[in-house]
Amino acid sequence: MDVKLELSNNLKAKPEWGKDKLGFGKILTDHMLLVDYNPSEGWHGARVVPYAPLQLDPAAGCLHYGQLIFEGMKAYKGEDGKIALFRPRENMKRLNESGWRMCIPPIDEEYLLNALIKFIEVEKDWVPTVAGSSLYIRPFILSTEAFLGVKPSDTYQLCIILSPVDSYYSGGLAPVNIYVEEKYVRASKGGTGYAKCAGNYAASMRSQLEAQAKGFAQVLWLDGIERKYVEEVGAMNTFFVIDGVAVTPELTGSILPGITRKSVIEILRGWGIPVEERLLSIDELAETHKNGKLQEAFGTGTAATIAPIGSLTWGGDTMQISEGKIGEITQRLYDEVLGIQFAKCADSRGWRKVIIE
Ligand SMILES: *Cc1c(COP(=O)(O)O)cnc(C)c1O
Repeated sequence: MDVKLELSNNLKAKPEWGKDKLGFGKILTDHMLLVDYNPSEGWHGARVVPYAPLQLDPAAGCLHYGQLIFEGMKAYKGEDGKIALFRPRENMKRLNESGWRMCIPPIDEEYLLNALIKFIEVEKDWVPTVAGSSLYIRPFILSTEAFLGVKPSDTYQLCIILSPVDSYYSGGLAPVNIYVEEKYVRASKGGTGYAKCAGNYAASMRSQLEAQAKGFAQVLWLDGIERKYVEEVGAMNTFFVIDGVAVTPELTGSILPGITRKSVIEILRGWGIPVEERLLSIDELAETHKNGKLQEAFGTGTAATIAPIGSLTWGGDTMQISEGKIGEITQRLYDEVLGIQFAKCADSRGWRKVIIE
């Protein structure tokens, strides 16, 4: 598999790791990876080129009908000095699953992963060396055919961009306050909720904005039909520790199947903590809180890893969880998942894929 390299001769100054604030997604590296699709050649022409605006016909389908999917992953520099990805094949597989829903032709997962690894080799000095920070990887596919009729595009472009990011908790791990959304919905059964597509995020912003204006960090979505069952938070799946059992909403089609979620389920079961994937209504959750059985709540996702939930506000009532502190299991999971990603803990399941020795 060959990836053509057309390298920039005008490299940007790198931030001073640990001193300059990186934020999230504000700084982009020197290059981007492009791969094209057309019906006769399929996916072809992987190349690393200088980071620059994309060339797009104003009639391109993605601009009008949102035929656009993405992924989110990270490269970590471990304590062993090696650069690694976390379960990258899962991201490649999910990209194709999102693509299926949005009628985007599948790409060979090994071809793409190899191209990504070659790309990161080029940009390896952009992987931050400071504890907790990482290189965020954003692959996305857009439809490019210039045609205003509503139908799947004949042509596509895949692009990967890279951004060095701080630890999500640069001020230390801290619980977030969440608003339970009852007015708007993000996704509905049969819709695109399980796909990582741009439109899901566009649909969520009005609610996010209103919740933030009320002082909340994020919203907790309820199911789109009955507005009853707990689904997920922003770009995170959710877990609730109820009477010693970790309960997470089952994947009914309107929830994004998170790779962190899947990993957390395996880790918890490995520790002998029972996990239930099932429907969990907001009434049941409020009831368990009233009875003192709601011990911990947290979100899971690549950006934040594990995010402790300090409170849930539903209607007029606020449920404080773990007295607003970080729960015991939450903290243990945070340490374990980051420990694997940064090579501080044993990786017995082989989730850490070293790409640069
Ligand atoms: C990406 C994403 C997640 C988390 O998935 P991870 O694979 O754990 O990063 C959860 N919910 C939504 C809506 C997402 O887009």
